[in-house]
Amino acid sequence: MSGSLVWFRRDLRPNDHTALHHALEAGGPVHCAFVFDTDILGGLTDRADRRVSFIHHQVAQLKAKLERLGGGLHVLHGPARDVIPGLARKLGVTAVHANRDYEPSARRRDHDLERALQAQDCSFFQYKDQVIFETDEILNQSGRPYHVFTPYKRAWLEQYPFNFAASPVEPNFNRLAPQASGPMPSHADLGFRQVELKIASAQALWADFQTRIDNYREARDYPAVKGPSYISVHLRFGTLSIRELVCFAYGRGSEGARTWLSELIWREFYQMLLWHYPETVEHAFQAKFDAIEWPNPPGHFDAWRAAQTGYPIIDAAMRQLNQTGYMHNRLRMLTASFLVKDLHCDWRLGERYFAGQLLDYDQAANLGGWQWSASVGTDAQPWFRIFNPVVQSGKFDPQGKFIRRYLPELNQVPDRYIHAPWTMPAAAQAACGVIVGRDYPMPVIDHGAARVIALTLFKEKS
Ligand code: FAD
Repeated sequence: MSGSLVWFRRDLRPNDHTALHHALEAGGPVHCAFVFDTDILGGLTDRADRRVSFIHHQVAQLKAKLERLGGGLHVLHGPARDVIPGLARKLGVTAVHANRDYEPSARRRDHDLERALQAQDCSFFQYKDQVIFETDEILNQSGRPYHVFTPYKRAWLEQYPFNFAASPVEPNFNRLAPQASGPMPSHADLGFRQVELKIASAQALWADFQTRIDNYREARDYPAVKGPSYISVHLRFGTLSIRELVCFAYGRGSEGARTWLSELIWREFYQMLLWHYPETVEHAFQAKFDAIEWPNPPGHFDAWRAAQTGYPIIDAAMRQLNQTGYMHNRLRMLTASFLVKDLHCDWRLGERYFAGQLLDYDQAANLGGWQWSASVGTDAQPWFRIFNPVVQSGKFDPQGKFIRRYLPELNQVPDRYIHAPWTMPAAAQAACGVIVGRDYPMPVIDHGAARVIALTLFKEKS
């Protein structure tokens, strides 16, 4: 028995890959594998899930890259907890290397897998790769995890310059084992239909954003403007290395780059919290607000997810999500707040819906974002601060450019009514050809009244 197996998971790149680097350093032939894990795929309800197509494309590219480097990639389909030990046995390797995953279900899987591998005299090594600081590397002075972002970020920035592991690692590829790794399973083999995706490559998006990063602070809040990086899906599946991004943003030092670096630190803050508090997958971090009995009024959740609330900014955002699998950050905050505080639905319903739709779905960031917006998480938006969707719409999409892009039925509505079409006088409705209640829904709730109910729900438990 000799050599090792590198198991690629949410790190679909050969360069600056910690597990691959360590396996190559350890010597012996290095084999590579990816598993379309039926334990995960079995939980997906949509047979045309965009993520399966995205991953399929990235895995095919990874396989081609590894083959060009003299190696290969075994692409398997089955429960990872069985097929990885099975492949390790077949190849006769003494070690499996993987980059650490912090989600509770992944931790359980890896724990079981480690025991299965040990039983066949094979070691399982896991490495930090998808974050700069993991688990309990950044703790407060009492040795406890931070619950508030700003001091966490301060401590993160203080430690960063001394963390030499943060520099990219360059694997020595000539130890890759030449592999007859076989063909890729097709979408049909996996039980899914292929979806055409219009997503630029990781390197193209990153190169483009480097030319815009200095402007990030001013541009990031306006959904009609090309302000953010759009790289979340690539960070989610590791087609970009976090070390490369952080090195660049830290070194750049501009106001825009510093603001963007803060977002990458938010990402680590939420990963750290999920690792410490896995129960937040189901429960609000603030126990008192976990006890709120959400009314979930009939029809509200359905109107929200079908983009039929009658509030254009909310409906345009939900169409962006439903049509593309992406939603701008400002709109994620608005739609999440609207579902909970205007429609009085349980935040868990929205969190699950986003989890099913988002191409960049990441359990830690999604839970963090939802619990923040619903005012039930750590360092959450104060519960008495409730976004007014009309005011927010006027502020962040002043001429309704974003609204018109996703709600073309409102194209002719004058700018002054675009954020609240129901306020348009009958003559103006007739003039622009949009009769509210016929061509576009009446608002499903009155924001002023809904706000009062939300305040009562929170006040009862505070
Ligand atoms: P940029 O603005 O360019 O930010 C760069 C990167 O920083 C992002 O790609 C992401 O990795 C990270 N980031 C930015 N903002 C946050 C944040 N608030 N929390 C954690 N990481 C952040 N992000 C996800 O990656 N997956 C999710 O499932 C997810 N769900 C969310 C749900 C809600 C309700 C909210 C309010 C936010 C959610 N976010 C999620 C965070 C954020 O909206 C997205 O990361 C961002 O919109 C992705 O676009 P971008 O890559 O252009 O971001």
